[in-house]
Amino acid sequence: MPLSPEQQAEIDTLRASPRSTLRTVSEGMERHLYTAHPVLDHGFVRVVDYMGDDAAITQAARVSYGKGTRSVQNDEGLIRYLMRHWHSTPFEMCEVKLHVKLPVFVARQWIRHRTANVNEYSARYSILDREFYIPAPEHVAAQSEVNNQGRGDTLQGDEAARVLEILKGDSMRAYDHYEQMISQEGQQGLARELARMNLPANIYTQWYWKVDLHNLFHFLRLRADAHAQYEIRVYADALCEIVKDWVPFAYKAFEDYRLGAVSLSAQMVDCLKRMLNGEAVTEENCGMSKREWREFKGVLE
Ligand SMILES: Cc1cc2nc3c(=O)[nH]c(=O)nc-3n(C[C@H](O)[C@H](O)[C@H](O)COP(=O)(O)OP(=O)(O)OC[C@H]3O[C@@H](n4cnc5c(N)ncnc54)[C@H](O)[C@@H]3O)c2cc1C
Repeated sequence: MPLSPEQQAEIDTLRASPRSTLRTVSEGMERHLYTAHPVLDHGFVRVVDYMGDDAAITQAARVSYGKGTRSVQNDEGLIRYLMRHWHSTPFEMCEVKLHVKLPVFVARQWIRHRTANVNEYSARYSILDREFYIPAPEHVAAQSEVNNQGRGDTLQGDEAARVLEILKGDSMRAYDHYEQMISQEGQQGLARELARMNLPANIYTQWYWKVDLHNLFHFLRLRADAHAQYEIRVYADALCEIVKDWVPFAYKAFEDYRLGAVSLSAQMVDCLKRMLNGEAVTEENCGMSKREWREFKGVLE
């Protein structure tokens, strides 16, 4: 359960008090506003605020005074053109502010995306909750044999049970020690900023994260990808669903020209041309490294 009843009540109050505005509103995004979408066992993403919609992108591209006179089809066509040709600044006119609750080891990957504004829950000021990410059994997997940076088959039987027991036991023990150290009963109590140092990286943290649509697409391109770690990918997937409702034309263009697209090197394009001309191109005569050839074959298959 990611939200306490008090937190849910705050959200319900906000959703029950609509206000009229002259600002652009995305009907799809209004449905998400304030609502927490659960991710992993204790995490969530929720939209706290946003600016702009699909029309804001085309307005900026045309530097128009109002909505403009162009048709919806023209707007969609323009957005697709902008995305196809990497004309990115119009997408920066849309912004979103999110509240995210996530394990610390996921936060460490997430924070590498520097083109956002962040404010994190302070574990110097506040006491962290006893909430730790414990993977579902199907996500407890062995080290991958083909990818050093990934996982392979799911662990089975006793080994899986032992790993889960270790994860749970260590988390609880570390938190018990954290509580003991900060306690002021019969002792001074260690400062929270120090006591947190023995907490494991699967403890949950929270932050507000504000980003424009261009940089959000960059984040999603990398983190909704199959190469991203599952635990951050599920956050990216949840965000994709939200963005799809917020800016449907822009999201479709993103899906077509970024998420579902591939980039080919000059050598790959050359190989493709030779193949289309009927030549038998092989690993030996392709002019690429073994790994590149494997990746190229992966694209074609
Ligand atoms: C599958 C995967 C594996 C990864 N593995 C590792 C790893 O093993 N080790 C590791 O350290 N990281 C790793 N990363 C993180 C990765 O290297 C990037 O730091 C992260 O994806 C953020 O990307 P970014 O810098 O493009 O994004 P942002 O920080 O959002 O930047 C967006 C763009 O702005 C520009 N930009 C922003 N800041 C600067 C700057 N200071 N100077 C110049 N240009 C800037 C760049 O063009 C950048 O692409 C991994 C990421 C992925 C997706």
